[in-house]
Amino acid sequence: MKLAVIGTGYVGLVAGACFAETGNHVICMDNNEEKIKDLLEGKIPIYEPGLDDYVVRNSQKGKLTFSTDIKTTVEDSDIIFIAVGTPPDEDGSADLSHVLAVAKAIGKHMNGPKIVVNKSTVPVGTAKKVKEAIEKETSQTVDVVSNPEFLKEGAAIDDFMYPDRVVIGTSNPEVGEIMRELYRPFVRTGNPIIVMDEVSAELTKYTANSMLATKISFMNEISRLCDIVGADVQKVRSGIGSDKRIGYSFIFPGVGYGGSCFPKDVKALIRTAKTVGKTLSILTAVEEVNDSQKKILIPAIRKYYNDDNKGLKGKTLSIWGLSFKPKTDDMREAPSRIIIEELHKLGATLLAHDPVAMDEARRLGLDQKVTLCDDNYTALKNSDGLILVTEWLEYREPDFEKMKQLMKTPVIFDGRNIFNPDKVRKAGFDYFCIGRPKV
Ligand code: NAD
Repeated sequence: MKLAVIGTGYVGLVAGACFAETGNHVICMDNNEEKIKDLLEGKIPIYEPGLDDYVVRNSQKGKLTFSTDIKTTVEDSDIIFIAVGTPPDEDGSADLSHVLAVAKAIGKHMNGPKIVVNKSTVPVGTAKKVKEAIEKETSQTVDVVSNPEFLKEGAAIDDFMYPDRVVIGTSNPEVGEIMRELYRPFVRTGNPIIVMDEVSAELTKYTANSMLATKISFMNEISRLCDIVGADVQKVRSGIGSDKRIGYSFIFPGVGYGGSCFPKDVKALIRTAKTVGKTLSILTAVEEVNDSQKKILIPAIRKYYNDDNKGLKGKTLSIWGLSFKPKTDDMREAPSRIIIEELHKLGATLLAHDPVAMDEARRLGLDQKVTLCDDNYTALKNSDGLILVTEWLEYREPDFEKMKQLMKTPVIFDGRNIFNPDKVRKAGFDYFCIGRPKV
């Protein structure tokens, strides 16, 4: 099939490369000229394991091409995916300006009947809005499908190639069949392609992300209770996770969820409900818990250094992990950003390391507040304490002896509970973590 993907970010580039991998001709289009220039030179603008192989292989075969020209992109394709960003607006609702701008441009250049697919995460009613925006510009026939994406950054290629399910929202059975055909190669193991109406598909995506965010905030709130009553949240987690109805995933306590999806999707669903007169009380609490969870280590840090409201001037603190989760360079809504902001305000000198997100940190201007170090041990030189923020694999079994020699004060604030408290304390460190007994 002749496909186009408009918006070549985390979702668009992965979708484009994977559709090309299964034999389609795909044009990935973006209005960011630098991004497309990089891609044409074989440079991948984001860090995503395995993506470079897919992009290079399919570009060389001529299956995957890149463009900044919306006109030829629309004209040369039968199915057009919209995968542009939908950031939160000031009131928390999803900002649809990029999606609707693309819809308008598609309408302008329609040279025959097309299927337009919303892959961006968009609120209920957007398929209808996109159809109207296109039809305003053209008399050609257009079907608008809602096809939310469930990939996870860091495992995006696998998630796209082997999805747990594919959700397709269309009320046109013929279009449903074409979409099924397109996705058939991805579900050879029998995972379902679920066809439903557009509105249900749109709501499915927000409900999925909100459910996962709820699990995280719920467990984080339980970890706060553990701190007070002296229980160990890791044990509680094992105790409940073994119940198949609950499961082990998304119940790791930590310094909160971040990223480009959970925070904005929770906000947008709360907002969608508000516009129809409904208050989503559970999700409102999920958001509140997460916002405060990102700062959960700050009081412990202040208390440890007896700052007595004087701040942390003269203290050097090290941060391991900047991305919002491991295996990605994405720092959107990352807890590290809040932690850095708070510690900077308190006057601490900050050193940080991340295996892949340091360029992104520089792009965000964080190097004004933090010294970015090439190596995680270098980030510990003369440090008064380590704050573990992102649970990268390479941080899990560090050389504690070497760390102790480098640091001025051997103390670890573990925001992801990745270390064994006994081992760390035996190695001579003071150790603080989330929801586990202090001694
Ligand atoms: P992103 O910011 O990485 O990429 C969006 C791209 O769209 C950018 O390259 C931008 O330049 C381009 N763009 C914006 N306006 C454009 C226009 N008018 N014409 C052409 N290109 C334009 O965003 P993302 O993370 O890929 O997310 C895209 C959508 O997918 C969002 O709605 C998001 O919620 C959803 N989603 C994201 C993930 C994820 O893990 N990142 C997962 C599932 C769904």
